[in-house]
Amino acid sequence: MTADSVYIHVPFCIHRCGYCDFTVIAGRDDLIEHYLKCLELEIARSITSPQPVSTIFIGGGTPSYLPEPALQQLLTVVNEWFPLREDGEFSMECNPDGLTLDKIKILRSHSVNRISLGVQSFNPQHLETLERTHLAETINAVFAQLRDQHFANISLDLIFAVPGQTLSDWEADLKTVIALAPEHVSTYGLTFEKGTQFWTRRMKSQLIPAEDELEREMYSVAMTSLPAAGFQQYELSNFAQPGMECRHNQVYWQSAPYFGFGPGAASYLNGVRAMRHRSVTTWIRRVIAGESGIAETEVLNPEDRAREAVMLGLRQVAGIDLDQFQQQFSHPLPDLAPNAFDRLIEAQLLTLDQGKLRLTKTGRFIADSIMAEFL
Ligand code: SF4
Repeated sequence: MTADSVYIHVPFCIHRCGYCDFTVIAGRDDLIEHYLKCLELEIARSITSPQPVSTIFIGGGTPSYLPEPALQQLLTVVNEWFPLREDGEFSMECNPDGLTLDKIKILRSHSVNRISLGVQSFNPQHLETLERTHLAETINAVFAQLRDQHFANISLDLIFAVPGQTLSDWEADLKTVIALAPEHVSTYGLTFEKGTQFWTRRMKSQLIPAEDELEREMYSVAMTSLPAAGFQQYELSNFAQPGMECRHNQVYWQSAPYFGFGPGAASYLNGVRAMRHRSVTTWIRRVIAGESGIAETEVLNPEDRAREAVMLGLRQVAGIDLDQFQQQFSHPLPDLAPNAFDRLIEAQLLTLDQGKLRLTKTGRFIADSIMAEFL
């Protein structure tokens, strides 16, 4: 059982944002100590000896919310169990709010070399709608501090299609991000997931989602203005300066194996996906009791693996090399959707060029429904 990448989930946040569907817990800082103990227990039981890796991603939740001693403890555990290979990528998700200079120094001294900053918007009204606790000024100040501390790989996350957001608001956000000149930008259309507060408020007509046409236009503007500023789109939601693509996320899109630890985290090893309990308290209770933190496992048969690889591979702008695909999965890709393959190409939603299958620009707008044809 091995992999060259690891994901660690830190579930703590200052507040649960109304749209958030991640494994998150707010107002339970008393669990931080137990969480850290269980994380180390879970890792030690799974891999038994340190495992050098090429990519580490600490996500959440808000990993940077951890108080300094806890942050130090977390990173020490990760450094000990997953020594980063030379030239490795070590990302951590941070919120602008509460990312102090001391915390930035702790990250720096523990080999974190890539920061993914949850900006979401620079517009005070939309930050408020999204229930984010930071201000635009905080983003600028934190960004400058990260640069001062020699972080040379910073990604900024933005959300579009926020209720009340106009196209020019979105253009202003993109312009501000471009002016900051990070190495990487992620843009996500706001979704209303069942079970979230936003879903309930939408059902009660308290929140009105952006019109489809506006959302489409916003995505289109991102796909034009970011590349024009030197950020090449390399995945449906991701843009990077040349050579600054997120290597960890590419592991997922290329269906490569990875370790995963912490509540709600998935691992993918030897064709088996293992999902840990999403309830932080259940995960802690089970790990402390010496039981597995895994809630369910899914064994993917060769055809499942091939179908999933199409779904993930098509997310990448580079697309899927059909020969390589056949070699890797012993399955001709067109056979996975015999009724749809030619139709999608004829409709110019997919393109087949020099043996590579890709979504066209038009196809990217309806990527989910195209991918569903391969399920
Ligand atoms: S900060 Fe991020 S992870 Fe935490 S509740 Fe908000 S959206 Fe979710």
